[in-house]
Amino acid sequence: MRVFNFSAGPGALPLEVLEKAQKELVCYGDSGMSVMEMSHRSKPYDAIIKGAEAKLREIMNIPDNYKVLFLQGGASLQFAMIPLNLMRNSYKADYIESGMFASKALKEAQKFGKVNVVASSKADKYAYIPKVTKDQFDSEADYAYICANNTIYGTKYHEYPDTGNVPLVADMSSCILSEQVDVSRFGIIYAGAQKNLGPAGVTLVIIREDLVGHAKETVPSMLNYQLMVENESMYNTPPTYGIYMLKLMFEWIEAQGGVAALEKRNKEKAAVLYNYLDESKMFKGTANKEDRSLMNVTFVTGNEELDAKFVKEATAAGFVNLKGHRSVGGMRASIYNAMTLEGVQKLVEFMKKFESEN
Ligand code: PMP
Repeated sequence: MRVFNFSAGPGALPLEVLEKAQKELVCYGDSGMSVMEMSHRSKPYDAIIKGAEAKLREIMNIPDNYKVLFLQGGASLQFAMIPLNLMRNSYKADYIESGMFASKALKEAQKFGKVNVVASSKADKYAYIPKVTKDQFDSEADYAYICANNTIYGTKYHEYPDTGNVPLVADMSSCILSEQVDVSRFGIIYAGAQKNLGPAGVTLVIIREDLVGHAKETVPSMLNYQLMVENESMYNTPPTYGIYMLKLMFEWIEAQGGVAALEKRNKEKAAVLYNYLDESKMFKGTANKEDRSLMNVTFVTGNEELDAKFVKEATAAGFVNLKGHRSVGGMRASIYNAMTLEGVQKLVEFMKKFESEN
């Protein structure tokens, strides 16, 4: 029996995608072998990786002057790759500290240049997205950096900051393809795959062409975007099976009606949970209302023992992985693209029952 999986990542994948992979697991098409057993330089694999990119370009409306890369090292390796490749003129970068992953990213960037923390919500336990205006950004910075959705705290940007001519870099690990995004507003969009894209092991990087080719010679080859671009993500063996899963995911998104349809569904799903949190006398949302995430819904009862009881009973009832991040406690329901409206409605029914009984 499959459970309702509210994991923050690796997260749930659509059943249809898993079943398609299962069907093709042992023998892919007429290749006579599994995708896992295939050379990354073979013809069938070439069609898979090119097909994945083409489908992503279509569903995300990626302009031609952007490169798409399928890399490894997780989102965390991008914390280093971004400064190593983008710091080139002033060696200065602007960061907005909206959560733990933004904080980790800026600490990594400090190893390579001067980091200016434009704004931070750290003092308020990252419960909100700091509001910034264009004049707060340094026009000489090599780039400005944000984390678009803060997985741990359940906040997201509802409007992206205007950084003028300074390229905006966004970590979209926990919100990629959950809503429509104008790619042309960004210098780099990147995401670890394990939440909204597929299994862990692939990192998606979408980078504007003019930002490629500026790394110093001392930058290790595997960390140089230019080499990755020139070799079409095959400088070395790419995470072949993971990329295949991404392709299935992109095809699934298209079949759902594309990102616009998913955005509508995600807003409905989130509203079901937030509306209940707002009326409940037991549960309270922890994120600032106007910054609420569509993907990670964080809440507490206000009593740690009751939180633990809730998580335990929810797990027994088939609603799993609802425990909040170890750094903040409480609860978190991650409702990525694969989570159905029905799953969220059933969770709310369970929460109502728990509230009436406790
Ligand atoms: N950024 C965000 C927003 C995340 O949620 C995570 C992981 N949960 C990371 C970065 C780090 O990702 P990875 O484990 O792939 O390095």
